[in-house]
Amino acid sequence: MIVVMKSGASKPQIEHVVKLVREMGLKDHVIVGTERTVVAVIGNDRFKDRSVLESVEGVEKVVPILAPYKMASKEIKKERSVVPFFISPRTKGAPAGPSPSVGGKRLGIIAGPCSVENKTQLLEIAHAVKEAGAGGLRGGAFKPRTNPYSFQGLAEEGLKLLALAREETGLAVVTEVMAVEQVKLVADYADVLQVGARNMQNFNLLNAVGEQSKPVLLKRGMSATLEEFLLAAEYIMAKGNANVMLCERGIRTFEEYVRNTLALAAVPELQRVSHLPVIVDPSQGTGKNHLVDPMCRAAVAAGADGLIIEVHNDPAHALTDGAQSITPQQFAAMMSAIKRIAAAVEREV
Ligand code: PEP
Ligand code: MN
Repeated sequence: MIVVMKSGASKPQIEHVVKLVREMGLKDHVIVGTERTVVAVIGNDRFKDRSVLESVEGVEKVVPILAPYKMASKEIKKERSVVPFFISPRTKGAPAGPSPSVGGKRLGIIAGPCSVENKTQLLEIAHAVKEAGAGGLRGGAFKPRTNPYSFQGLAEEGLKLLALAREETGLAVVTEVMAVEQVKLVADYADVLQVGARNMQNFNLLNAVGEQSKPVLLKRGMSATLEEFLLAAEYIMAKGNANVMLCERGIRTFEEYVRNTLALAAVPELQRVSHLPVIVDPSQGTGKNHLVDPMCRAAVAAGADGLIIEVHNDPAHALTDGAQSITPQQFAAMMSAIKRIAAAVEREV
């Protein structure tokens, strides 16, 4: 960090800052300018509390240089991380053979209903998205609903149906875990654990998914900055789980023509500062089924490492998020359209 002194800061004030920097176990380099003096702090100050220096007399501001997250940052790892959907040991019933992944040349495509509703619904959708080229099957068994009277998901029954769909199709199961007490149960059935937008800063949950070994799909909170998003990923990684995929799913803005505003610039920006793969959810990201296909194309063009898309065989009767669900036919058409876009940005579908 760099401590910028106020113009006219006194010598004792500058010396006080230097003393505090040394007490932190860091080195100082004082640069005396014509207008003002700055104290450059040398050493790893990532975990030091810079607000201490901010409130010292004579200090104008403190400018951080290192990102506050470490494991998630590019400083630690220059190459892009590839996160597989299946890790070993594989979930009981998961297929053998190479795993679909996100972060490599091939895009990771996860598709399926917002919620698991029943066996016929799930299996029909699972077979259709597999046929169209998806590698992962999404479907919520535990649903975070705004209204307590809305459908809350089938819980373990839903997880069993997801396991059955994996057995029939070979797709990796991606499903949400909402609470620390559910982590073990969900991890017994799922291949990838989803932490939803509403739980992005549930630090106990982040620690719990960090302590188990299944890959984690972490969604950006709807009012979280990218730094807060990366710090949430850091929680998981700091507990020992490096298999984290970041998911941009739209943020809350003043706009009303969409459910959320899909911040696609987050994709290249996250990739600039982090080695973690970034996927895009155009379904929660727009809330409108007619916007899903164009946003899938835009996400791939912007360099996204994958997509997670809500697909329903009967959107009009879906128990959750029907308005933003595309049909299996629309999904198949989208998959063939993004092949050409992927090729243009040197990726594969
Ligand atoms: C979902 O994927 O259905 C979901 C609830 O996502 P989010 O946490 O992004 O709202
Ligand atoms: Mn949904």
